Amino acid sequence: MFRRVYLDNSATTPVAPEVVEVMMPYLTEKHGNASSIHFFGQEARAAVDKARHQVAALINARPNEIVFTSGGTEADNLAILGVRSPHVSKGSAQQPHIITSAIEHSAVKATCQELEKRGFAVTYLPVYENGLVRVEDVEAAVTDNTFLITIMMANNEIGTIQPVIEIGRLVKQIREKGQKIYFHTDAVQAIGKIDVDIEEIGCDLLSMSAHKIYAPKGVGALYVRRGVRLKAQSLGGQQERGSRGGTESVPNIVAFGAAAEMAKSELEHSAATLRSLRNSLESRIGETVTDVVFNGDRENRIPTVANISFRGIEGEGLLINLDMQGIAVSTGSACSSGTLEPSPVIRALSDNDDKSVVDEDRARGAIRFSLGRFNTAEDIDRVLEVLPNAVQTLRRLAPSRRDQTA
Ligand code: PLP
Repeated sequence: MFRRVYLDNSATTPVAPEVVEVMMPYLTEKHGNASSIHFFGQEARAAVDKARHQVAALINARPNEIVFTSGGTEADNLAILGVRSPHVSKGSAQQPHIITSAIEHSAVKATCQELEKRGFAVTYLPVYENGLVRVEDVEAAVTDNTFLITIMMANNEIGTIQPVIEIGRLVKQIREKGQKIYFHTDAVQAIGKIDVDIEEIGCDLLSMSAHKIYAPKGVGALYVRRGVRLKAQSLGGQQERGSRGGTESVPNIVAFGAAAEMAKSELEHSAATLRSLRNSLESRIGETVTDVVFNGDRENRIPTVANISFRGIEGEGLLINLDMQGIAVSTGSACSSGTLEPSPVIRALSDNDDKSVVDEDRARGAIRFSLGRFNTAEDIDRVLEVLPNAVQTLRRLAPSRRDQTA
């Protein structure tokens, strides 16, 4: 039987044993509701408060700027739907405007699309061949009605790190001229992998998710800068200072806190280790497999992701072939009603005229390898044992498409 190799850590990470240990009592004897007044409630409240400090420390925020949510998706929704446009509040005839990028996660994209249906204008900024937005494009897109810029910190498919610090500076300048404008960044794929400092970025809102940093699924947080008022999207109790009704998931929050503390203390070491493993994976694939294209910027990216197009084959086919041999990777493409659609992120890589630089063949053959703290050099060896043959076999089976589209 083969050894399984998990290289899909951008989708979700295993829960770290240290995190399970810290969380466990809150699934058993420490079962209080953090809003209850008695001993059990106080115990739960203290645990949530501790986690709030730990999560805040990871991004250099204050504890009372953290709103716990059910994950990254809810944090994105709360940020984009919850922030108030001055035009809407004053019942103005002006159309409120949002600026975002063409490669946001669907949690941001779908929320912006929903606001378009409600009459908002949304600008989807292009990304260039390297997968990065340009600050001058952001600046050029700003109108008097722009009240929100939402641009992710690190992309989930190609790992590119957007120029969020420069965008933060731009937002500050616009604000100094008297315009009410907010800056939100989805940092779900950034925390725990690179340094994330809300003061350095200058953002007002920042989304996080626990299950990308070795804590369980179903918990996340939104950083809300002091002074920014949000309209709650989940109505009910006054939990999370009125920003999010609903009983706090104490065990999950405790786990998120522990994982955040671990991520902060291990950041430098784990980034260096994973970068070196990722780089070795890429260079060995480059040496042993022909006709590959590396997607995204080679420098400005998180250390854990390699996105590679294997020309002449379907990414899904390769994914399934690797899975049958115990290696878990992903394509990032959506498979709906029998049609395989190539990833919109890869397709969005464009030239200066906003024309895709990615042909059909490159888009269809893209695979994401995403590494995490439990991967080892042996895992990379195993990929290199299996992958070149898998690619060769699939190319032999599908030579025609390659000829048509290459
Ligand atoms: N934003 C990004 C960039 C993501 O990668 C993800 C998850 O893949 C999310 C948001 C959604 O987070 P969650 O799964 O916690 O809802």
